[in-house]
Amino acid sequence: MKKFSILIAGGGSTFTPGIVMMLLDNLDRFPIDSLKLYDNDEERQAKLGRALDIVLKEKAPEIKFSYTIDPKEAFKNVDFVFAHIRSGKYRMRELDEKIPLQHHVVGQETCGPGGIAYGMRSIGDIIELIDYMEAYSPNAWMLNYSNPASIVAEACRQLRPDSRILNICDMPVGTLRRMSQIVGLTPNDLEVKYFGLNHFGWWTSVKDHDGHEYLPEIRDYVAEHGYLTKVEVDTQHMDASWQATHKKAKDLLAVDPRFLPNTYLKYYLYPDYVVEESDPNYTRANEVMDGREKNVFSAAKRIVDAGTSSVGEFNIDSHASFIVDLARAIAYNTHERMLLIVENNGAIANFDDDAMVEVPCIVGNDGPEPLSQGNIPLFQRGMMYEQVTVEKLAVQAWIEHDYQKLWQALSLSKTVPSAQVAKELLDDLIEANKEFWPELK
Ligand code: NAD
Repeated sequence: MKKFSILIAGGGSTFTPGIVMMLLDNLDRFPIDSLKLYDNDEERQAKLGRALDIVLKEKAPEIKFSYTIDPKEAFKNVDFVFAHIRSGKYRMRELDEKIPLQHHVVGQETCGPGGIAYGMRSIGDIIELIDYMEAYSPNAWMLNYSNPASIVAEACRQLRPDSRILNICDMPVGTLRRMSQIVGLTPNDLEVKYFGLNHFGWWTSVKDHDGHEYLPEIRDYVAEHGYLTKVEVDTQHMDASWQATHKKAKDLLAVDPRFLPNTYLKYYLYPDYVVEESDPNYTRANEVMDGREKNVFSAAKRIVDAGTSSVGEFNIDSHASFIVDLARAIAYNTHERMLLIVENNGAIANFDDDAMVEVPCIVGNDGPEPLSQGNIPLFQRGMMYEQVTVEKLAVQAWIEHDYQKLWQALSLSKTVPSAQVAKELLDDLIEANKEFWPELK
């Protein structure tokens, strides 16, 4: 059985230990020859690298492990690049969230003005990773979790249309886990139909392998409880703010009770509620810095100080299972069905061919083959068209260094009340992102 060589780009990510632990747990299904970490922040990555070195020596000494900030060393001779970088790190995420809130607009990592600002930082960095991969391992695949996935995917479509990058998101998988819990099954028992953009979609069918449709049953539950489940199903989306988001799904469902909504739709359908609920001085970025980031880096320090990982400081991250399943689907040509962000090309019949949409795909060693989702209703199509245009304008603004287009993108976003607010916001975001964005003309 071939053993694979994996590079994790964004080696200093809080999600790196969880992905490594998931890989170690799956060695029988997905054997590994070498595992490398790559980051552009040497110190941050080394804190996790030193700890993971100890974990790997103890649990899988046969795997060659290393970490580096040198792109050539990192990207040469790899089969897969798992990418999860955060351009500008949490310091900039905090500003993405807090600057819009100062204007009484949704402040969120991937949605609204914060997502656009983050997109303008991410595009260049992701293109750089693709170019490294193509230079040093031209046959490799990049499985990319780096956000904001919609804008990143559109930038890849325009700037590197032939590259072997798959942009993915764990949110639909996390919500499916909740749905399976609601009906007393496991996610693997269920097959879905879904249409939308990333962080912007609807399930139209949730069936078991015998063809039984669970959507009505799940819908009745969500109408009362949202996606809040009685027992913990997810290790990632568990903080208080996430629990409120799962609950809010019942109000999203009320807008169109035919389909089950993606939880991120709350930022577009209830932006006033979101602003009201937000603390402009303590946002999700602060929650993560005080929670996951502290926990992961202090666990790494404990391992390094003790010289052993015997007390199990790092946990398998359920977030990581999707990326491992996807790598397997490509490596072993499994033709599994997965939700991916792909160019529409008719998958949603009455939507633009060149839109990057999120739909179920069959995945094999040639990559994804999108499954037809038919026509979608007017309400969803209207919302999606507005949002996909925001994403396209943002990418064009980055490519052409065009102030006007970025102002238009912000003005068009359903989260922003007027072109005036959009302009004031844009000027503040330009000031905050000087180090990262191209200079806009
Ligand atoms: P993090 O800040 O903990 O880690 C990101 C790492 O990327 C940092 O160590 C940073 O130094 C590194 N980095 C930044 N720019 C880089 C570059 N140009 N080259 C190499 N390394 C670079 O962030 P995190 O919270 O672990 O999240 C990582 C990414 O994963 C984010 O983009 C986040 O939004 C995304 N994410 C996606 C999903 C999903 O399902 N799509 C889920 C969770 C997280």
